[in-house]
Amino acid sequence: MSDEVVSDASAAGIEPVIGLEIHAQLLTNTKIFCGCGTRFGAAPNMNVCPVCLGLPGALPVLNRRAVELAMRAGLALGCTIQRHSIFARKNYFYPDLPKGYQISQYEHPLATDGELAYVADDGPHVVRITRVHLEEDAGKSLHTAIGDSDRYTYLDFNRSGVPLIEIVTHPDLRAPRAAADFFARLRAILLAIGVNDGNMEEGSLRCDANVSVRPAGESALGVKVEVKNINSFRFLQRALEHELVRQTELLRAGGHVVQETRLWDEANGRTVSMRSKEEAHDYRYFPEPDLPPLEVSETWIAEVRAALPELPEARKQRFIRDYGLPAADAAHLADTEERARFFEDTAASAGNPKAASNWVMGEVTRRLKAAGAGIEVVGVTPAALGRLIRLVDTGVVNGSAAKAVFARMYGSGREAEDIVRAEGLSQIGDAGELTEVVTRVIAEHEDAVARFRGGNEGSLGFLVGQVMRATRGRANPKKTNELLRRALTAREAAPRTDE
Ligand code: ADP
Ligand code: ZN
Ligand code: MG
Repeated sequence: MSDEVVSDASAAGIEPVIGLEIHAQLLTNTKIFCGCGTRFGAAPNMNVCPVCLGLPGALPVLNRRAVELAMRAGLALGCTIQRHSIFARKNYFYPDLPKGYQISQYEHPLATDGELAYVADDGPHVVRITRVHLEEDAGKSLHTAIGDSDRYTYLDFNRSGVPLIEIVTHPDLRAPRAAADFFARLRAILLAIGVNDGNMEEGSLRCDANVSVRPAGESALGVKVEVKNINSFRFLQRALEHELVRQTELLRAGGHVVQETRLWDEANGRTVSMRSKEEAHDYRYFPEPDLPPLEVSETWIAEVRAALPELPEARKQRFIRDYGLPAADAAHLADTEERARFFEDTAASAGNPKAASNWVMGEVTRRLKAAGAGIEVVGVTPAALGRLIRLVDTGVVNGSAAKAVFARMYGSGREAEDIVRAEGLSQIGDAGELTEVVTRVIAEHEDAVARFRGGNEGSLGFLVGQVMRATRGRANPKKTNELLRRALTAREAAPRTDE
Protein backbone atom coordinates (compact mmCIF):
# COMPACT_ATOMS: atom_id res chain seq x y z
CA MET A 1 0.00 0.00 0.00
CA SER A 2 2.78 2.44 0.87
CA ASP A 3 4.17 2.39 -2.67
CA GLU A 4 0.73 3.21 -4.02
CA VAL A 5 0.37 6.10 -1.61
CA VAL A 6 3.78 7.47 -2.42
CA SER A 7 3.22 7.34 -6.17
CA ASP A 8 -0.28 8.71 -5.71
CA ALA A 9 0.99 11.59 -3.67
CA SER A 10 3.90 12.36 -5.96
CA ALA A 11 1.67 12.10 -9.03
CA ALA A 12 -0.36 14.88 -7.52
CA GLY A 13 2.89 16.73 -6.73
CA ILE A 14 2.20 16.40 -3.02
CA GLU A 15 4.86 15.90 -0.37
CA PRO A 16 4.18 14.21 2.98
CA VAL A 17 5.71 15.85 6.09
CA ILE A 18 5.94 13.84 9.30
CA GLY A 19 7.20 14.58 12.83
CA LEU A 20 7.07 12.18 15.78
CA GLU A 21 6.59 12.58 19.52
CA ILE A 22 7.77 9.46 21.31
CA HIS A 23 7.11 8.52 24.92
CA ALA A 24 9.53 6.06 26.48
CA GLN A 25 9.32 4.68 30.00
CA LEU A 26 12.64 4.96 31.81
CA LEU A 27 14.09 1.76 33.26
CA THR A 28 14.05 2.76 36.92
CA ASN A 29 12.95 0.62 39.84
CA THR A 30 10.95 3.44 41.39
CA LYS A 31 8.68 6.21 40.16
CA ILE A 32 9.84 9.68 39.21
CA PHE A 33 8.67 11.58 42.32
CA CYS A 34 8.14 8.84 44.95
CA GLY A 35 9.54 5.49 46.05
CA CYS A 36 6.73 3.34 44.61
CA GLY A 37 7.73 0.46 42.33
CA THR A 38 7.30 0.53 38.57
CA ARG A 39 6.92 -3.18 37.76
CA PHE A 40 4.45 -3.90 34.95
CA GLY A 41 1.67 -6.36 35.69
CA ALA A 42 1.30 -5.75 39.43
CA ALA A 43 -2.27 -6.06 40.76
CA PRO A 44 -4.17 -2.77 40.28
CA ASN A 45 -3.34 0.03 42.71
CA MET A 46 -0.63 -1.91 44.57
CA ASN A 47 2.18 0.51 43.62
CA VAL A 48 0.72 3.74 44.97
CA CYS A 49 1.32 6.29 47.73
CA PRO A 50 0.06 9.80 48.59
CA VAL A 51 2.52 11.40 46.13
CA CYS A 52 1.54 9.42 43.02
CA LEU A 53 -2.13 9.46 44.02
CA GLY A 54 -1.90 13.25 44.15
CA LEU A 55 -3.20 13.54 47.69
CA PRO A 56 -3.14 17.08 49.13
CA GLY A 57 0.10 18.04 50.84
CA ALA A 58 2.20 15.20 49.44
CA LEU A 59 5.51 16.49 48.08
CA PRO A 60 7.35 15.18 45.01
CA VAL A 61 11.07 14.33 45.24
CA LEU A 62 12.92 13.86 41.94
CA ASN A 63 14.43 10.43 41.17
CA ARG A 64 18.13 10.88 40.34
CA ARG A 65 18.28 7.72 38.24
CA ALA A 66 15.45 9.02 36.01
CA VAL A 67 17.44 12.19 35.35
CA GLU A 68 20.53 10.17 34.51
CA LEU A 69 18.64 7.94 32.05
CA ALA A 70 17.03 10.96 30.40
CA MET A 71 20.49 12.51 30.02
CA ARG A 72 21.75 9.27 28.45
CA ALA A 73 18.94 9.39 25.90
CA GLY A 74 19.57 13.06 25.19
CA LEU A 75 23.29 12.52 24.68
CA ALA A 76 22.77 9.40 22.52
CA LEU A 77 20.53 11.53 20.32
CA GLY A 78 23.18 14.22 19.97
CA CYS A 79 21.37 16.76 22.15
CA THR A 80 22.81 19.49 24.33
CA ILE A 81 22.05 18.80 27.98
CA GLN A 82 20.76 21.96 29.65
CA ARG A 83 22.43 22.66 32.99
CA HIS A 84 19.15 24.14 34.25
CA SER A 85 15.75 22.78 33.35
CA ILE A 86 12.37 23.39 34.89
CA PHE A 87 9.38 21.22 35.77
CA ALA A 88 5.94 22.59 35.00
CA ARG A 89 2.36 21.65 35.72
CA LYS A 90 0.36 20.73 32.63
CA ASN A 91 -3.23 21.16 33.71
CA TYR A 92 -6.08 19.07 32.37
CA PHE A 93 -8.97 17.14 33.80
CA TYR A 94 -9.16 13.39 33.35
CA PRO A 95 -10.16 10.68 35.83
CA ASP A 96 -6.77 8.94 35.57
CA LEU A 97 -4.99 12.15 36.62
CA PRO A 98 -5.93 12.68 40.27
CA LYS A 99 -3.80 15.80 40.80
CA GLY A 100 -5.55 17.55 37.90
CA TYR A 101 -2.14 18.22 36.34
CA GLN A 102 0.78 16.26 34.98
CA ILE A 103 4.30 17.25 36.00
CA SER A 104 6.29 17.70 32.80
CA GLN A 105 8.93 19.99 31.35
CA TYR A 106 7.71 22.71 29.04
CA GLU A 107 9.65 25.87 28.19
CA HIS A 108 12.95 24.62 29.62
CA PRO A 109 13.47 20.93 28.80
CA LEU A 110 16.46 18.86 29.91
CA ALA A 111 17.88 18.22 26.43
CA THR A 112 17.59 20.13 23.15
CA ASP A 113 18.81 20.33 19.55
CA GLY A 114 20.02 16.85 18.68
CA GLU A 115 19.90 14.78 15.55
CA LEU A 116 19.90 11.18 14.43
CA ALA A 117 21.88 10.51 11.26
CA TYR A 118 21.84 7.08 9.62
CA VAL A 119 22.03 5.26 6.32
CA ALA A 120 18.80 3.45 5.46
CA ASP A 121 18.10 1.20 2.45
CA ASP A 122 17.19 4.25 0.39
CA GLY A 123 20.19 6.37 1.41
CA PRO A 124 21.29 8.75 4.17
CA HIS A 125 18.79 10.42 6.53
CA VAL A 126 19.10 13.13 9.16
CA VAL A 127 16.21 13.59 11.58
CA ARG A 128 16.61 16.54 13.92
CA ILE A 129 15.58 16.08 17.55
CA THR A 130 13.88 19.16 18.93
CA ARG A 131 13.95 18.14 22.57
CA VAL A 132 13.99 15.36 25.13
CA HIS A 133 12.15 16.15 28.34
CA LEU A 134 11.21 14.38 31.58
CA GLU A 135 7.64 13.83 32.70
CA GLU A 136 5.42 11.52 34.71
CA ASP A 137 2.95 9.04 33.26
CA ALA A 138 -0.76 9.18 34.15
CA GLY A 139 -2.87 6.34 35.56
CA LYS A 140 -4.90 4.00 33.43
CA SER A 141 -8.67 3.85 32.90
CA LEU A 142 -10.04 0.36 32.34
CA HIS A 143 -13.24 0.28 30.33
CA THR A 144 -13.39 -3.40 29.43
CA ALA A 145 -12.63 -6.90 30.65
CA ILE A 146 -12.92 -6.20 34.38
CA GLY A 147 -15.73 -6.43 36.95
CA ASP A 148 -18.83 -4.44 35.98
CA SER A 149 -16.99 -2.61 33.22
CA ASP A 150 -20.15 -2.35 31.15
CA ARG A 151 -21.40 0.03 33.83
CA TYR A 152 -18.26 1.43 35.47
CA THR A 153 -14.84 2.70 34.54
CA TYR A 154 -12.07 1.29 36.74
CA LEU A 155 -8.93 3.24 37.58
CA ASP A 156 -5.47 1.76 38.09
CA PHE A 157 -2.86 4.22 39.40
CA ASN A 158 0.14 1.87 39.25
CA ARG A 159 1.37 3.72 36.20
CA SER A 160 0.74 7.12 37.68
CA GLY A 161 4.12 8.75 38.32
CA VAL A 162 6.12 6.27 36.25
CA PRO A 163 9.07 8.18 34.72
CA LEU A 164 8.91 8.95 31.00
CA ILE A 165 10.92 10.86 28.52
CA GLU A 166 9.23 12.50 25.59
CA ILE A 167 11.38 12.74 22.47
CA VAL A 168 10.17 15.27 19.91
CA THR A 169 11.50 15.31 16.34
CA HIS A 170 11.43 18.11 13.79
CA PRO A 171 9.05 17.40 10.89
CA ASP A 172 11.93 15.87 8.90
CA LEU A 173 10.40 12.57 7.81
CA ARG A 174 8.94 12.28 4.31
CA ALA A 175 7.22 8.89 4.08
CA PRO A 176 5.32 6.44 6.32
CA ARG A 177 7.95 3.77 5.83
CA ALA A 178 10.72 6.21 6.71
CA ALA A 179 8.84 7.13 9.89
CA ALA A 180 8.47 3.48 10.91
CA ASP A 181 12.14 2.85 10.12
CA PHE A 182 13.16 5.86 12.22
CA PHE A 183 11.02 4.70 15.13
CA ALA A 184 12.66 1.25 14.94
CA ARG A 185 16.12 2.81 14.98
CA LEU A 186 15.21 5.01 17.91
CA ARG A 187 13.93 1.95 19.76
CA ALA A 188 17.21 0.10 19.08
CA ILE A 189 19.17 3.04 20.50
CA LEU A 190 17.04 3.28 23.66
CA LEU A 191 17.53 -0.47 24.18
CA ALA A 192 21.27 -0.25 23.50
CA ILE A 193 21.75 2.45 26.13
CA GLY A 194 19.57 0.69 28.72
CA VAL A 195 17.05 3.52 28.94
CA ASN A 196 13.89 1.68 27.85
CA ASP A 197 12.82 -1.98 27.49
CA GLY A 198 11.32 -1.43 24.02
CA ASN A 199 8.13 -3.25 24.99
CA MET A 200 5.50 -1.61 22.83
CA GLU A 201 2.73 -4.05 23.71
CA GLU A 202 2.99 -3.14 27.39
CA GLY A 203 3.06 0.53 26.40
CA SER A 204 6.59 1.29 27.60
CA LEU A 205 7.26 2.80 24.18
CA ARG A 206 4.58 4.63 22.18
CA CYS A 207 4.37 7.35 19.64
CA ASP A 208 2.18 10.22 18.44
CA ALA A 209 2.57 10.92 14.73
CA ASN A 210 2.10 14.41 13.28
CA VAL A 211 1.46 14.51 9.58
CA SER A 212 0.67 17.07 6.92
CA VAL A 213 0.93 17.37 3.16
CA ARG A 214 2.08 20.24 0.96
CA PRO A 215 2.71 20.87 -2.73
CA ALA A 216 6.12 19.42 -3.65
CA GLY A 217 8.74 22.17 -3.70
CA GLU A 218 6.85 24.28 -1.16
CA SER A 219 8.82 25.15 1.99
CA ALA A 220 5.94 26.31 4.23
CA LEU A 221 4.36 23.53 6.29
CA GLY A 222 0.82 22.35 5.66
CA VAL A 223 -1.84 22.01 8.38
CA LYS A 224 -1.01 18.97 10.51
CA VAL A 225 -3.04 16.21 12.05
CA GLU A 226 -1.79 14.40 15.14
CA VAL A 227 -2.46 10.66 15.37
CA LYS A 228 -2.26 9.64 19.03
CA ASN A 229 -0.92 6.66 20.91
CA ILE A 230 0.48 4.29 18.33
CA ASN A 231 2.15 1.23 19.80
CA SER A 232 3.62 -0.69 16.86
CA PHE A 233 5.77 0.04 13.82
CA ARG A 234 3.15 -1.46 11.55
CA PHE A 235 0.33 0.64 13.03
CA LEU A 236 2.49 3.73 12.64
CA GLN A 237 3.07 3.04 8.97
CA ARG A 238 -0.55 2.13 8.31
CA ALA A 239 -1.95 5.11 10.21
CA LEU A 240 0.30 7.49 8.27
CA GLU A 241 -0.53 5.85 4.93
CA HIS A 242 -4.21 6.20 5.64
CA GLU A 243 -3.86 9.78 6.81
CA LEU A 244 -1.86 10.77 3.71
CA VAL A 245 -4.52 9.33 1.40
CA ARG A 246 -7.23 11.14 3.36
CA GLN A 247 -5.40 14.48 3.31
CA THR A 248 -4.39 14.17 -0.37
CA GLU A 249 -7.97 13.38 -1.38
CA LEU A 250 -9.25 16.32 0.66
CA LEU A 251 -6.89 18.70 -1.14
CA ARG A 252 -7.68 17.22 -4.55
CA ALA A 253 -11.38 17.70 -3.94
CA GLY A 254 -10.63 21.37 -3.30
CA GLY A 255 -11.06 21.10 0.47
CA HIS A 256 -8.57 21.73 3.24
CA VAL A 257 -7.15 19.77 6.14
CA VAL A 258 -8.51 20.68 9.57
CA GLN A 259 -5.97 20.75 12.40
CA GLU A 260 -7.06 18.08 14.84
CA THR A 261 -6.12 15.08 16.91
CA ARG A 262 -7.10 11.68 15.51
CA LEU A 263 -6.91 8.11 16.73
CA TRP A 264 -5.80 5.06 14.77
CA ASP A 265 -8.62 2.53 14.52
CA GLU A 266 -6.75 -0.66 13.66
CA ALA A 267 -9.86 -2.82 13.31
CA ASN A 268 -11.23 -0.62 10.54
CA GLY A 269 -7.88 0.50 9.10
CA ARG A 270 -8.56 4.22 9.40
CA THR A 271 -8.00 7.24 11.60
CA VAL A 272 -10.96 8.82 13.40
CA SER A 273 -11.31 12.32 14.76
CA MET A 274 -10.83 12.71 18.51
CA ARG A 275 -10.85 16.48 18.95
CA SER A 276 -10.35 19.53 16.75
CA LYS A 277 -8.10 22.51 17.40
CA GLU A 278 -11.10 24.53 18.56
CA GLU A 279 -11.71 22.08 21.39
CA ALA A 280 -7.96 21.64 21.98
CA HIS A 281 -6.72 21.82 25.54
CA ASP A 282 -5.36 24.98 27.01
CA TYR A 283 -2.97 23.38 29.46
CA ARG A 284 -2.26 26.58 31.41
CA TYR A 285 1.34 25.50 32.01
CA PHE A 286 3.10 27.07 34.97
CA PRO A 287 6.31 26.21 36.86
CA GLU A 288 5.89 23.43 39.44
CA PRO A 289 6.20 25.23 42.80
CA ASP A 290 7.01 22.03 44.72
CA LEU A 291 10.16 21.21 42.71
CA PRO A 292 13.24 23.40 42.45
CA PRO A 293 14.79 23.89 38.98
CA LEU A 294 16.74 20.79 37.95
CA GLU A 295 20.47 21.54 37.97
CA VAL A 296 22.99 19.13 36.47
CA SER A 297 26.74 19.71 36.67
CA GLU A 298 29.19 19.57 33.76
CA THR A 299 30.94 16.74 35.60
CA TRP A 300 27.79 14.67 35.77
CA ILE A 301 27.04 15.28 32.10
CA ALA A 302 30.61 14.24 31.20
CA GLU A 303 30.29 11.06 33.29
CA VAL A 304 27.06 10.07 31.61
CA ARG A 305 28.54 10.78 28.19
CA ALA A 306 31.65 8.71 28.93
CA ALA A 307 29.51 5.74 30.01
CA LEU A 308 27.51 5.60 26.75
CA PRO A 309 28.05 2.36 24.81
CA GLU A 310 28.72 2.24 21.08
CA LEU A 311 25.42 2.75 19.22
CA PRO A 312 24.11 0.40 16.50
CA GLU A 313 24.58 2.79 13.57
CA ALA A 314 28.16 3.67 14.55
CA ARG A 315 28.89 -0.05 15.05
CA LYS A 316 27.43 -0.87 11.63
CA GLN A 317 29.68 1.72 9.97
CA ARG A 318 32.68 0.33 11.86
CA PHE A 319 31.88 -3.24 10.68
CA ILE A 320 31.65 -2.04 7.07
CA ARG A 321 34.89 -0.08 7.38
CA ASP A 322 37.04 -2.45 9.45
CA TYR A 323 35.78 -5.85 8.33
CA GLY A 324 34.68 -5.06 4.78
CA LEU A 325 31.18 -6.48 5.39
CA PRO A 326 28.26 -5.68 3.06
CA ALA A 327 25.90 -3.06 4.56
CA ALA A 328 23.01 -5.48 5.12
CA ASP A 329 25.20 -8.00 7.01
CA ALA A 330 26.83 -5.22 9.03
CA ALA A 331 23.41 -3.82 9.96
CA HIS A 332 22.15 -7.21 11.17
CA LEU A 333 25.29 -8.06 13.14
CA ALA A 334 25.55 -4.59 14.68
CA ASP A 335 21.91 -4.38 15.67
CA THR A 336 22.29 -5.51 19.29
CA GLU A 337 25.32 -5.50 21.55
CA GLU A 338 25.02 -9.25 22.21
CA ARG A 339 24.93 -10.21 18.55
CA ALA A 340 27.77 -7.81 17.75
CA ARG A 341 29.89 -9.24 20.55
CA PHE A 342 29.24 -12.81 19.38
CA PHE A 343 30.30 -11.89 15.84
CA GLU A 344 33.41 -9.97 16.87
CA ASP A 345 34.58 -12.69 19.28
CA THR A 346 34.06 -15.30 16.56
CA ALA A 347 35.95 -13.17 14.04
CA ALA A 348 38.83 -12.76 16.49
CA SER A 349 38.98 -16.48 17.24
CA ALA A 350 38.78 -17.38 13.54
CA GLY A 351 41.14 -14.68 12.35
CA ASN A 352 38.69 -14.30 9.46
CA PRO A 353 35.89 -11.71 9.88
CA LYS A 354 34.26 -12.42 6.52
CA ALA A 355 33.91 -16.14 7.29
CA ALA A 356 32.74 -15.35 10.83
CA SER A 357 30.06 -13.06 9.38
CA ASN A 358 28.94 -15.78 6.96
CA TRP A 359 28.62 -18.34 9.75
CA VAL A 360 26.76 -16.02 12.10
CA MET A 361 24.46 -14.75 9.34
CA GLY A 362 24.00 -18.30 8.02
CA GLU A 363 24.08 -21.41 10.23
CA VAL A 364 23.89 -19.63 13.59
CA THR A 365 20.97 -17.38 12.63
CA ARG A 366 19.15 -20.27 10.98
CA ARG A 367 19.33 -22.33 14.17
CA LEU A 368 18.24 -19.47 16.41
CA LYS A 369 15.33 -18.70 14.10
CA ALA A 370 14.23 -22.32 14.06
CA ALA A 371 14.26 -22.32 17.86
CA GLY A 372 12.61 -18.88 18.01
CA ALA A 373 15.46 -17.81 20.27
CA GLY A 374 17.95 -14.96 20.51
CA ILE A 375 21.75 -14.94 20.50
CA GLU A 376 21.81 -15.11 24.31
CA VAL A 377 20.97 -18.83 24.13
CA VAL A 378 23.17 -19.71 21.15
CA GLY A 379 24.43 -23.30 21.39
CA VAL A 380 28.07 -22.68 20.55
CA THR A 381 30.75 -20.35 21.91
CA PRO A 382 32.41 -17.79 19.63
CA ALA A 383 35.80 -19.33 20.45
CA ALA A 384 34.69 -22.82 19.39
CA LEU A 385 33.05 -21.55 16.20
CA GLY A 386 36.22 -19.61 15.45
CA ARG A 387 38.28 -22.81 15.76
CA LEU A 388 35.92 -24.59 13.34
CA ILE A 389 36.41 -21.76 10.84
CA ARG A 390 40.18 -22.20 11.21
CA LEU A 391 39.83 -25.89 10.34
CA VAL A 392 38.12 -24.85 7.10
CA ASP A 393 40.67 -22.15 6.34
CA THR A 394 43.60 -24.52 6.88
CA GLY A 395 42.03 -27.17 4.66
CA VAL A 396 41.44 -29.72 7.43
CA VAL A 397 37.71 -29.91 6.59
CA ASN A 398 35.79 -28.72 3.56
CA GLY A 399 32.74 -26.48 3.66
CA SER A 400 30.12 -29.22 3.63
CA ALA A 401 31.84 -31.31 6.29
CA ALA A 402 32.18 -28.17 8.40
CA LYS A 403 28.39 -27.86 8.40
CA ALA A 404 28.11 -31.45 9.63
CA VAL A 405 30.70 -30.71 12.32
CA PHE A 406 28.80 -27.57 13.32
CA ALA A 407 25.57 -29.55 13.65
CA ARG A 408 27.31 -31.92 16.09
CA MET A 409 28.96 -29.08 18.01
CA TYR A 410 25.78 -27.07 18.41
CA GLY A 411 24.33 -27.50 21.88
CA SER A 412 26.71 -30.37 22.74
CA GLY A 413 29.76 -28.45 23.97
CA ARG A 414 31.97 -30.70 21.79
CA GLU A 415 35.03 -29.28 20.06
CA ALA A 416 35.32 -29.19 16.27
CA GLU A 417 38.74 -30.92 16.33
CA ASP A 418 37.41 -33.84 18.40
CA ILE A 419 34.40 -34.33 16.14
CA VAL A 420 36.55 -34.29 13.02
CA ARG A 421 38.90 -36.88 14.53
CA ALA A 422 36.21 -39.10 16.05
CA GLU A 423 34.05 -39.17 12.96
CA GLY A 424 36.79 -39.22 10.34
CA LEU A 425 35.53 -36.03 8.73
CA SER A 426 38.86 -34.57 7.74
CA GLN A 427 39.15 -33.49 4.16
CA ILE A 428 40.71 -35.78 1.56
CA GLY A 429 43.13 -33.63 -0.35
CA ASP A 430 45.68 -36.32 -0.96
CA ALA A 431 45.90 -36.83 -4.75
CA GLY A 432 46.55 -40.57 -4.50
CA GLU A 433 43.52 -41.28 -2.30
CA LEU A 434 41.25 -39.00 -4.35
CA THR A 435 42.40 -40.40 -7.73
CA GLU A 436 41.29 -43.83 -6.61
CA VAL A 437 37.77 -42.59 -5.93
CA VAL A 438 37.69 -40.49 -9.12
CA THR A 439 38.67 -43.50 -11.22
CA ARG A 440 35.96 -45.61 -9.61
CA VAL A 441 33.27 -42.95 -10.11
CA ILE A 442 34.21 -42.56 -13.78
CA ALA A 443 33.98 -46.31 -14.28
CA GLU A 444 30.56 -46.47 -12.58
CA HIS A 445 28.94 -43.57 -14.49
CA GLU A 446 29.56 -44.15 -18.17
CA ASP A 447 26.46 -42.15 -19.15
CA ALA A 448 27.55 -38.99 -17.39
CA VAL A 449 31.07 -39.40 -18.70
CA ALA A 450 29.72 -39.69 -22.24
CA ARG A 451 27.52 -36.65 -21.78
CA PHE A 452 30.45 -34.61 -20.52
CA ARG A 453 32.57 -35.66 -23.45
CA GLY A 454 29.67 -34.78 -25.73
CA GLY A 455 30.04 -31.19 -24.50
CA ASN A 456 27.70 -31.18 -21.49
CA GLU A 457 29.73 -29.31 -18.86
CA GLY A 458 26.98 -29.80 -16.29
CA SER A 459 27.75 -33.50 -16.07
CA LEU A 460 31.01 -32.63 -14.36
CA GLY A 461 29.02 -31.28 -11.42
CA PHE A 462 27.13 -34.55 -11.19
CA LEU A 463 30.39 -36.52 -11.12
CA VAL A 464 31.87 -34.21 -8.45
CA GLY A 465 28.73 -34.92 -6.46
CA GLN A 466 29.32 -38.65 -6.79
CA VAL A 467 32.88 -38.30 -5.50
CA MET A 468 31.53 -36.30 -2.56
CA ARG A 469 28.99 -38.99 -1.88
CA ALA A 470 31.58 -41.74 -2.00
CA THR A 471 33.76 -39.83 0.47
CA ARG A 472 30.86 -38.80 2.71
CA GLY A 473 31.47 -35.16 1.77
CA ARG A 474 35.13 -35.21 2.72
CA ALA A 475 36.72 -34.71 -0.72
CA ASN A 476 38.46 -31.42 -1.39
CA PRO A 477 36.03 -29.97 -3.96
CA LYS A 478 38.63 -27.98 -5.88
CA LYS A 479 41.03 -30.90 -6.21
CA THR A 480 38.18 -33.26 -7.11
CA ASN A 481 37.18 -30.93 -9.90
CA GLU A 482 40.71 -30.75 -11.24
CA LEU A 483 41.30 -34.49 -11.05
CA LEU A 484 37.98 -35.32 -12.72
CA ARG A 485 38.51 -32.87 -15.52
CA ARG A 486 42.02 -34.08 -16.13
CA ALA A 487 40.95 -37.72 -16.14
CA LEU A 488 38.01 -37.12 -18.47
CA THR A 489 39.93 -35.06 -20.99
CA ALA A 490 43.09 -37.20 -20.78
CA ARG A 491 41.36 -40.29 -22.16
CA GLU A 492 40.03 -38.38 -25.07
CA ALA A 493 42.94 -36.21 -26.07
CA ALA A 494 46.64 -36.51 -25.60
CA PRO A 495 47.72 -35.76 -22.04
CA ARG A 496 48.54 -32.13 -21.63
CA THR A 497 51.62 -31.03 -19.86
CA ASP A 498 50.78 -27.43 -19.19
CA GLU A 499 48.34 -28.12 -16.36
P1 ADP B 1 2.22 21.66 18.73
O1 ADP B 1 2.42 23.08 19.08
O2 ADP B 1 0.94 21.37 18.05
O3 ADP B 1 2.55 20.73 19.85
P2 ADP B 1 4.86 21.41 17.71
O4 ADP B 1 5.40 22.46 16.83
O5 ADP B 1 5.28 21.40 19.14
O6 ADP B 1 3.29 21.39 17.60
O7 ADP B 1 5.24 20.02 17.07
C1 ADP B 1 4.79 18.82 17.60
C2 ADP B 1 5.21 17.74 16.63
O8 ADP B 1 4.57 17.93 15.39
C3 ADP B 1 6.69 17.70 16.30
O9 ADP B 1 7.10 16.36 16.20
C4 ADP B 1 6.78 18.39 14.96
O10 ADP B 1 7.86 17.90 14.20
C5 ADP B 1 5.49 17.99 14.33
N1 ADP B 1 4.98 18.98 13.38
C6 ADP B 1 4.83 20.31 13.59
N2 ADP B 1 4.27 20.89 12.51
C7 ADP B 1 4.07 19.91 11.60
C8 ADP B 1 3.50 19.87 10.28
N3 ADP B 1 3.02 20.96 9.71
N4 ADP B 1 3.44 18.69 9.65
C9 ADP B 1 3.89 17.58 10.24
N5 ADP B 1 4.43 17.54 11.47
C10 ADP B 1 4.51 18.69 12.15
ZN1 ZN C 1 3.97 6.66 44.92
MG1 MG D 1 4.26 20.96 21.11
